This record gives sequence, structure tokens and C-alpha cells, in this order.
Amino acid sequence: LPPDQRVGFAIVGLGRLSLEQLLPAFAECKRARPVALVSGSPEKARLVAAQYGIPDQAVYDYAGFDRIAEDPRVQVVYVVLPNGLHREFVMRAAKAGKHVMCEKPMANNSAEARDMVAACDQAGVKLMVAYRCQYEPYNRETIQRVRSGDMGAARFIEATNTQVMGPGDQWRFSKALAGGGALPDIGLYCLNTARAITGEEPIEVFARIFNPEGDPRYREVEESVSFMLRFPSGTIANCTTSYGAHESKDLRVRLEKGWIDLENAFAYEGQQMQVAHRGGKAEIVERVRLPQQNQFALEIDHMASCVKENRMPRTPGQEGVQDHVLMEALYESARTMAPVSL
Ligand code: NDP
Repeated sequence: LPPDQRVGFAIVGLGRLSLEQLLPAFAECKRARPVALVSGSPEKARLVAAQYGIPDQAVYDYAGFDRIAEDPRVQVVYVVLPNGLHREFVMRAAKAGKHVMCEKPMANNSAEARDMVAACDQAGVKLMVAYRCQYEPYNRETIQRVRSGDMGAARFIEATNTQVMGPGDQWRFSKALAGGGALPDIGLYCLNTARAITGEEPIEVFARIFNPEGDPRYREVEESVSFMLRFPSGTIANCTTSYGAHESKDLRVRLEKGWIDLENAFAYEGQQMQVAHRGGKAEIVERVRLPQQNQFALEIDHMASCVKENRMPRTPGQEGVQDHVLMEALYESARTMAPVSL
């Protein structure tokens, strides 16, 4: 679409994700453009605005954010703040009559997430949770191949999302600002992807948590979680997530008639996909190659299309609520050291 017909986005919070991934991704978008910035750091905001051709009057601070209601260029508000601030800004955006995109995890807990869905419903605006992996082509290919049934039933899903978290990532160690540790931040991708692959909701979950003793970073939030999800059709997902293990972001599916390995499944790039099929007596291993596409641009364009065509996003607010309900069950399981039925 030509620039004047593209859907205008306001980016709220100019941190690492906004500056290093989202704003650059707009260059690869076909239906969206950044038209406003919301930031608590005026100098940084002015510099970034100049870089992206955003006029000074379209730069807001948090106190003045509600004036965005009178800015017709802004159709979507994209909330990219620490998790504990998502609820407030999603509700304010809805009140301003803007469609909302919200970074994952949707909130600190399911109660907040439900408030956000209700506020957007009441305001008649769309709400999308930015589950980027559900817009990434190799993840989509995996979901589609499993769901087609051609490879038989899926017995096991193995999903790992680990990375070493530096001491500088302050808000991520605060329960009030992050809601939790590795689980809501990165383990969420294992959970959300297992649900997307099966197209089912877990009926039983089990989790164990490990925190290194004496590490001040893990006084309020957890470092490592291993968890199991059991789905109605029998598929079991085994998931691991940690802030204390070297980067590994792989997804494996074991099916009756083959397997799928997706390396770097949850990374920003570098996905490598291999699929094994039983072909007669032999096993055929296929290397799947798809065109490289920026997953952030794809998800932003998806929201823009939903606004243009008045469609419901693939990952609406309800999707975020459900993940929070499940994460709460996982925390309960870890606390009680017993499986939790849903
Ligand atoms: P950063 O800490 O890098 O940035 C957060 C920004 O929020 C800050 O730069 C600041 O922007 C603003 N902010 C407002 N209030 C506070 C506060 N009290 N403490 C800290 N920052 C504040 O975080 P990220 O960019 O890594 O994460 C932001 C959101 O994006 C989170 O919800 C996170 O889970 C999600 N995320 C998603 C990823 C994905 O792959 N989809 C990857 C990384 C993060 P300013 O100076 O402009 O006010």
C-alpha cells in the first residue's frame, strides 16, 4: 500500500525490542507504518522520531498519552513496555478508541489479561497479542504439517527456550514489572507453540522450578522451569525454559509416521527445518527451505490487515488470557509438587 493508505502505528516504549526489531521491521512492512512514539525519555524519543520521519507533535510522554485519542493518524497502539505496565496502557489505548497490539506476555496474570479483553470489547477495538512465532513461516509450516494429519498423530512435542540473562535486565527480575521469570518471558513460546501445533488445550499440567541458591536475581522470579502438558488426544509436550542455560530455542515433534525438527524455532532468525517421513521401508529426510521473511514485519502487517479488513487477529486477547491461565496452573503445580488438572 502507498504510505498514505497504510495503517498508522504508535509505538509505546522505546526499549530494546522497539529500537532493534520493531521499528526497523516497518521498512519490510507492506501495510503498516510508524506514525507516533510514546516514551518517558524525551531526548531519545526525539532522535528516534527524526530517524523515522515522525513529526515532533506525534511524540507523546506517558502522562500525555491519552491525547492520542485526537490523533487520526494513529489507528493502532502497540504496547512494548515491561509486562507489568501492559494492562494500564492497553486499557488507556482502548479508551482512546484505538486498536491495540500488546507484546507478550500479555500481562502479569490472567485477571489483568481478562480486564484488557473486556476493555477492548467494550470500546469496540481489536486486541492482538504479539506472539511473533505464530507469524513466522517455519513455525506455521510445522503447525500446518502436524494438523494436516498426513504424518499421523503427534505423540511428543519437545520445546526448549533458554538464554543466559544478564544482570542488567532489571525489570525482568521484578515480580511487579515482569509477573514472573523465564516462564512468562521465554517459556511462553514453548507453551503457546505446543497449543498451536496440537490445536488443543492441555487437560493436565506439571511443572518443577529451579532457582540457584543465593542469587539475588531470583528472589522474586524464577530462573528455570521444566514442564509437561498433556493434551486430550494424548500428545504430551515436554518443555524447558531458563535464564541460566546457554541459548537454545529448538522445537521437535515426534509423530506416528515421522518427525519434525525445527532448530532456532523461537529465535528471531536462523530457523532450520528437517522432516523425516516413513517411505515404505526406508526413512526419507527432507530439508525444508522457505523464503526468509522478517517475522516482526509479518505480524505487524497481519494486524494492519485485520484493521483494514475488519477481521479478528490470529492471536487475539483471549489467546493471551488462556496462556496466563495455564501458566498459573504451572506455578500451582510447582508449588504443590503435583499435577494440576484443567
Ligand atoms: P526494555 O527494558 O529494553 O525496554 C522497555 C522500555 O519500556 C524502556 O526502554 C522504557 O522506554 C519503557 N519503560 C517505561 N517504564 C519503564 C520501567 N518502569 N522500567 C523499564 N522500562 C520502562 O524491554 P524490552 O524491549 O526487552 O521488552 C519490552 C516488552 O517487549 C516486554 O513485554 C517483553 O516481554 C517484550 N519482548 C518481546 C520480544 C519478542 O520477541 N516478541 C522480545 C523482547 C521483549 P522509554 O525510555 O521510551 O520510556
